[in-house]
Amino acid sequence: MRLILLGPPGAGKGTQAQILVEAYGIPQLSTGDILRSAIAARTPMGLAAKEVMDRGDLVSDDIVNGIVSERLDAEDCKVGFILDGFPRTIAQAEALDQMLAEKGMALDAVVEITADADVLVRRITKRARESGVARGDDNQEVLRKRLNVYRELTEPLVEYYQHKRLVRTVDGMQPIEDVTAAIRRAVHN
Ligand code: AMP
Repeated sequence: MRLILLGPPGAGKGTQAQILVEAYGIPQLSTGDILRSAIAARTPMGLAAKEVMDRGDLVSDDIVNGIVSERLDAEDCKVGFILDGFPRTIAQAEALDQMLAEKGMALDAVVEITADADVLVRRITKRARESGVARGDDNQEVLRKRLNVYRELTEPLVEYYQHKRLVRTVDGMQPIEDVTAAIRRAVHN
């Protein structure tokens, strides 16, 4: 199973990806997590990405494309993967198409998780309060920026993948287990 989870920040992509990892035995590829690890390890890539992420902007396509291409070559991705937070721009989607073609892989579905903007603000504020893990980009001002970036740069991917007949839309405002059930139904159609 090769899936993309698409949706605004706070829609539940990470939560659902973790559940699907267990259900399907395939790894979650989160570019956000990989970038945060690079920041924690103070690698040159992490240091360069931190400022951009803290502002709520997107890290350059070249950096994230490189991360994903390398990660897709790992043994655990042979059986499938869940992309969480990538692609986020049309250029990244085109780069992904090329990578997958070169690696002889094809996507099974793009799951769009929809969510209400007000609920997202509340969820992210709660995540910031409760997680204990400091994320420089989990505050209201930066969240609004990230939502705008999503609308402007990432939402056009829905149409991009609709042309390929890959999009399955799921209501992300339901309880977590109902969202999971809807995703599972959607990807088996
Ligand atoms: P996330 O954990 O997916 O919400 O990502 C957190 C931040 O990491 C984003 O706001 C971006 O600054 C950066 N990031 C993660 N994935 C990407 C991507 N595919 N393209 C560009 N920037 C990304």
